[in-house]
Amino acid sequence: MTDVTDADTGSCHSCGATDEHVTAVHRMYVVPEDWETKPSQTVEDDIGLWCFSCRTHYPHVLVD
Ligand SMILES: [Zn+2]
Repeated sequence: MTDVTDADTGSCHSCGATDEHVTAVHRMYVVPEDWETKPSQTVEDDIGLWCFSCRTHYPHVLVD
């Protein structure tokens, strides 16, 4: 995966790791299907800086 655009070194807003290569993302909340809930996903307006590990593990949308 090559996402060098806007990559910068800093602390991750999600896990707090420092000296990580962080990328600007919108956090995405995914609601799994339930017996009375339809699956849905919500994208936050707020921008966070996430490290590679968080971008691997949590749903998000890259900021343009
Ligand atoms: Zn992180």
